[in-house]
Amino acid sequence: MAREGKNAEEILKYYFTEVQIKEFDRPSINKPLQGKIIVLDPGHGGVNTEDTIGPTGLREKDVNLSISLQLAELLRNAGAIVYETRTEDVYVPLSKRCNLANKVRPHFFISIHQNNFLNPNISGSEIYHYRGDKESEALANFLLEELWNTLGLIKRGIRNADFYLLREVKSSVIHVEVAFITNPKEEEKLRDEKFQHQVAKAIAKGIMKYYGYE
Ligand SMILES: [Zn+2]
Repeated sequence: MAREGKNAEEILKYYFTEVQIKEFDRPSINKPLQGKIIVLDPGHGGVNTEDTIGPTGLREKDVNLSISLQLAELLRNAGAIVYETRTEDVYVPLSKRCNLANKVRPHFFISIHQNNFLNPNISGSEIYHYRGDKESEALANFLLEELWNTLGLIKRGIRNADFYLLREVKSSVIHVEVAFITNPKEEEKLRDEKFQHQVAKAIAKGIMKYYGYE
């Protein structure tokens, strides 16, 4: 067939019907997260949800969703395959969030939350992971560093926890508490759409740094 002037694709298609020829997507500067699968999980949602309400009424569930939607877009632009446990203000049981994760087997499952405490002066970021999950711990370090560098959010630390999703999702999971919605200053920042976007950018940058891209 080659002697008859057929090219490689024509020859392959002659012998293998149904075959599709595609460019192989390898990670590049433009698509540093090519091939990575990430599940984003904005905490809470819907009517009977146990999210925290800030001193002037900001809802944690809304902030979580806004950050997550923007983060999804940034990660997709960087080449990642992104799944979201919710994209609107609806109630999604933890078991359903878990099932989605265990079906798509992501490289990372990232829950987004805002923290709360009785003392309104407490501020900063915390990240939780399941004990012994070294990948999550390493990623958490990059994220805390970015949140501190770009937004000045105090690094309160990385901790082990036994939350349902950390335990039941069979992939690396991190639970990010971006800031304290019970702190009036942080509530004000979290209400600002520009700040929400910067949080999404900091998390996206942290993920890229984890994978070795600056
Ligand atoms: Zn929460």
